[in-house]
Amino acid sequence: MTGKEIKEMQKKYVLQSWSKQGALNPIPVERAEGIYYYDFDGNRYTDMASQLVNLNLGYGNEDIALAIKEQVDKYCYIGPSIASEPRAKLAKMIIDLLPESFGKVFFTNAGADANENAIKIARMFTGRKKVFSRYRSYHGSSFGAGNLTGEPRRYPLEPGIPGFVKFFDPYIYREPIEFESEEAATGYYLAKLREQIIYEGPDNVAAIVMETITGSNGVIIPPKGYLPGVRKICDEFGIVMICDEVMAGWCRTGKMFAFENFDVVPDIVTFAKGVTCGYVQLGGVAISKEIAAYFDDHVLSCGLTYSGHPLACAAGVACVNYYTKAGIPEHVVEVGAVLAEQLDSFKESHPCVGDVRHIGLFSCVELVKDKKTKEPLVSYGRDPEGIMGKVIGLLKERKFMTYSHENMVFICPPLIITEEQLKEELMKLDEVLSIVDETF
Ligand code: PLP
Repeated sequence: MTGKEIKEMQKKYVLQSWSKQGALNPIPVERAEGIYYYDFDGNRYTDMASQLVNLNLGYGNEDIALAIKEQVDKYCYIGPSIASEPRAKLAKMIIDLLPESFGKVFFTNAGADANENAIKIARMFTGRKKVFSRYRSYHGSSFGAGNLTGEPRRYPLEPGIPGFVKFFDPYIYREPIEFESEEAATGYYLAKLREQIIYEGPDNVAAIVMETITGSNGVIIPPKGYLPGVRKICDEFGIVMICDEVMAGWCRTGKMFAFENFDVVPDIVTFAKGVTCGYVQLGGVAISKEIAAYFDDHVLSCGLTYSGHPLACAAGVACVNYYTKAGIPEHVVEVGAVLAEQLDSFKESHPCVGDVRHIGLFSCVELVKDKKTKEPLVSYGRDPEGIMGKVIGLLKERKFMTYSHENMVFICPPLIITEEQLKEELMKLDEVLSIVDETF
């Protein structure tokens, strides 16, 4: 098929996520390698979002491809209750990477069902029903995960499932209160959370679910002491602490798991995306030994036909090995420092840049109409003129491929990006920000 035929067929028959279906313009991709993909006319696009912040090791990783091929030759599928080498191996590798307190993994197909199952596990373990999560969050689009999600993508599910309680993120940049220090902010948010739990009845609360670092809702990095403070609240009230590492995990921040940046150990970690970098889809729920022991003599009421799919787990084993073998966390720290420096300089030089937030190769630029008032370039949940689409379009014209959410542009390239490649791409971003300064 030609590129044009593929594109037209896709437009005609495939429903595209989160989009009005009338005005789609998907790029037909012929091949991909490293941080680049190519259309049928030979145009090269730089993937500055690692697709959906999942393709951490870029395109064409031979180790992963080979591991999948080898598993295909053995067997492609075997049910979850049968022992399978890649499944057992990957679970052990993940547990070995996590703190000593972790015991077992329940595999899922992706991030949403990882979160769904994490909530179920917390509810079964505690015998409680309520679940806390934050407004600025995305935990998946299926019914349960969509109810955990706090941002507007939850609206079609409303009024939603009773017992899902939302609290505010430590989003200091947009807090109406001026804090004297990071610690002061932490104190404020923790006090509010604790108060809210008391009002909800601590004995009813099964879990607090948080993206360790809020991803698509703005790379919100928790202030000093925040996560250990949440841990303390969970301990005080017997609540299960769940860190959603679907986007922030797997070296994105320069650590294998993002929570390692914050001196905290959750009870449950959910993961997906970078565990296989999308070569085959996989997600999972890693649980503490204490929670795992509970299910020694209680039924784990969770199940999926494809739990621990052998091809996905084979891809996972290869990915996780590659992260370590290739020194990806160290590389992310190194290249991430260049990204941080450049983004900080954009904040200084561009009137349209209200804030930049970054850690490792996880970053976003928050666009504003007015730096002083912080008025966002588009208001929350509303962009009737499609301004952010235009900004993304300007980047796309330069083959800098990424996505926006609200008034933010995300820069989360594959973790294998070199310093030179990054600098080349950031020059394009700089150019586009200058246009935004002048235009909107
Ligand atoms: N959790 C977080 C933090 C995510 O960013 C996402 C997806 O972007 C999900 C969960 C849902 O994952 P999936 O799309 O694999 O179901």
